[in-house]
Amino acid sequence: MLVENRFYRWLARALERRDNAYRVFTLVEKKSKERLFGCQMCGQCELPTTGYACPMTCPKQLRNGPCGGVSADGRCEVHPDVRCVWVLAYERAVATGHSADFSLLQRPVDHREQGRSSWINYWQGRDDEMAADPSANPRMVKRDGTVAAR
Ligand code: SF4
Repeated sequence: MLVENRFYRWLARALERRDNAYRVFTLVEKKSKERLFGCQMCGQCELPTTGYACPMTCPKQLRNGPCGGVSADGRCEVHPDVRCVWVLAYERAVATGHSADFSLLQRPVDHREQGRSSWINYWQGRDDEMAADPSANPRMVKRDGTVAAR
């Protein structure tokens, strides 16, 4: 539904030119994703490659899988009453045939984007190099799964 296209690129540019419109749009994104995914508005959304489990809900905010503290039955070491978000992400990815996403290396989160709209960043192409395929020499992988040109 939100896949990048000409209209969304135009919308993103228009929203970034108007502070109030950008703020309202970002608030709508925040409210909807907060409720659905526990979104923390990092501005660089990884949901498409994590089975729609938000990695920023991990207490350590790890972007490339679980830490060494996850228990054998999948509980978080910081909050043992909660399942590790990466265990949840992996289970969902396997169930939907997307486990290959877990062999990608995600770049570190850029905290300068905190609070900004990840939808607009995506439509503006700023997410194009969010992940690298370590088996591909290493080349960057775009959100749609294609390998970015060098
Ligand atoms: S990865 Fe970032 S933008 Fe996506 S749901 Fe999590 S905090 Fe929000």
